[in-house]
Amino acid sequence: MEKEKGLLIVLSGPSGVGKGTVRKEIFSNPERNLVYSISATSRPKRPGEVDGVDYFFKTREQFEEMIERGELLEYTEYVGNYYGTPLEYVKKTLEEGKDVFLEIEVEGAKQVREKFPDGIFIFLIPPSLKELEKRIKNRGTESDETIKNRMEVAKEELKMMGLYDYVVENDEVKEACRKIKAIIEAEHCRRFRI
Ligand code: 5GP
Repeated sequence: MEKEKGLLIVLSGPSGVGKGTVRKEIFSNPERNLVYSISATSRPKRPGEVDGVDYFFKTREQFEEMIERGELLEYTEYVGNYYGTPLEYVKKTLEEGKDVFLEIEVEGAKQVREKFPDGIFIFLIPPSLKELEKRIKNRGTESDETIKNRMEVAKEELKMMGLYDYVVENDEVKEACRKIKAIIEAEHCRRFRI
């Protein structure tokens, strides 16, 4: 029997909704075949972040070289910094039959949809806009100006919900993770053929 290719799973949603927290919870106890694709970014490292674990931290020049060399599956400039997904790792890992998990913002997810129409696109939403603002502020790492910018971007991003296969409310992290794992499991069953 031919080896089954892995699934590409894209988790997206507005900044501050808790994509990172949900992703970390999923990977604290990952399903056997699920791997996380580490993004490249030109944004400065936050306290506690580690290069090659949270992101591949690049200068703007290094990032632009990656773009020119065609090394990114998708990329975007988000609130003044570049973010992108290294292509080779995703391709290789899917070929090996493993599922690849991307945690990216909406513009990037749109680009992935064009290149990988078979991907599974999941949109994480906050219980309310008020709650979203609270979460962004609670992180305590952003200036007032950045918080304002992120809220504006978030309102636009929420309008893209209809383009996704699944919408999951992130009221409680463990519950959101349970739903996402169930979606992945169901998609495997949906595609399973012998
Ligand atoms: P943060 O600066 O809070 O780590 O991330 C800001 C936003 O960029 C988040 O919405 C995050 O999901 C998104 N992001 C992280 N990595 C990537 C990526 O590789 N591509 C795209 N398009 N967005 C990303």
